[in-house]
Amino acid sequence: MEKIAKDYVDFLSECKTERLCVRKIVEEAEKNGWRNLDGVKSLKAGDRVYVNKMGKALMLFTIGKDSIEKGMNILGAHIDSPRLDAKPNPIYEKAGIVYLNTHYYGGIKKYQWLTIPLAIRGVVCLKDGKTVDVNVGDEDSDPVFCISDILPHLAGKQMEKRARDIVDAEDLDVILGVNAKYADKADADDDDSGKGRKSVRDVGKKNILSILKKKYGIEEEDLLSSELEVVPAGRARFLGFDGSMILGYGQDDRVCAYASFRAFMDVTDSARTACLLLSDKEEIGSYGATGMSSHLLDNAVAEVIDRLGVKGSVEMALRRCLSNSTMLSSDVNAAFDPLNADLYDFGNASKLGGGIVLNKYTGSRGKSGASDANPEFIAEIRNKFDRDGVKYQFAELGKVEAGGGGTIALYAAEFGMNVIDAGVAVLSMHAPWEITAVSDFLQTYKGYVSFLK
Ligand code: MN
Ligand code: MN
Repeated sequence: MEKIAKDYVDFLSECKTERLCVRKIVEEAEKNGWRNLDGVKSLKAGDRVYVNKMGKALMLFTIGKDSIEKGMNILGAHIDSPRLDAKPNPIYEKAGIVYLNTHYYGGIKKYQWLTIPLAIRGVVCLKDGKTVDVNVGDEDSDPVFCISDILPHLAGKQMEKRARDIVDAEDLDVILGVNAKYADKADADDDDSGKGRKSVRDVGKKNILSILKKKYGIEEEDLLSSELEVVPAGRARFLGFDGSMILGYGQDDRVCAYASFRAFMDVTDSARTACLLLSDKEEIGSYGATGMSSHLLDNAVAEVIDRLGVKGSVEMALRRCLSNSTMLSSDVNAAFDPLNADLYDFGNASKLGGGIVLNKYTGSRGKSGASDANPEFIAEIRNKFDRDGVKYQFAELGKVEAGGGGTIALYAAEFGMNVIDAGVAVLSMHAPWEITAVSDFLQTYKGYVSFLK
């Protein structure tokens, strides 16, 4: 197995939140000479800098020899993934069981999150300005968490429901602990509210809070300023007798983010300035200050241009730079699923093992919401990939009216640049554990290198 594939499996296993991705990539980038732009007064060809946006989005630049106004080669991926977020007032106890109340993030099939081991990763921010890392469930010695489901013996009614209603979103609550005292004292004269009698009420919750206090030094009200993400527990693994695939959480879109990062690190001598853009919030529409619909990219590029000391206005140079840029919107595509073949147009579906997927347009119905890449640009990409022996395939998500989806491509296109979606085919996309082919990861890495050259 190639080392880079093993590195990717480690990355997936360790970086299950956008913050952890930013932290890891900044660490690696700094080892290789990238510096925080904040501390840099001027830039010249060959310089390496990064802009860290709120610890949740990241842009790396390698300054090229050409004028920045001629544009950049941008690899743009997203590092947020579907998950369950803790609500602002998350911890409650009901009938002796202590729960974490959640609100799901991104497009999930809710039933897939029942009865699997879960981890809690994230941060709690304190009023004194300190931030505490929370990380439970991913170490072998850690306990894990879980959402329960109804036993088949009593699931008659549940099994009649539509899949979307099998579990109510309000019931995607994660078990944190048990109030044993409640069980001791629960008897016939207990009230029916499920809250238990006063003497034993919330004893379990108080116990969990005291554990949090001891472990993290936090009070219950500190959870008001927290960002806790419930994610599948455990490491990503190679899949199949032949180990030809990878099973891991968050491959949409960390497979493209990691391949982009590695390609970006390996190409440091191109004429054009190279940019690696790792955005947040894609799974909920790219809104927010760390999402691609914000001024994340143009603000950072303006700072770079300012440090380059261009003649004339920074604003004019910025607009020229962005509209002359080209970008691979590095995002995943739905892999053809032989067991659900009727959802795909086989000749226009991406196949597991078929190489990097180029997707001219996403969106839904009549290409609604798509930026629809130009054929002139596609021809340039084909030329590069053929030159460098990159295995590639062209595909749509599924059949024309079978559904749809979007990526960050349209936000890049707003600056007037050429952009096309290019990434890895994924089976069971958005499931807690997603499947990719190792060979596709390698070809995608190779494709990104080819694009930057
Ligand atoms: Mn994606
Ligand atoms: Mn997605």
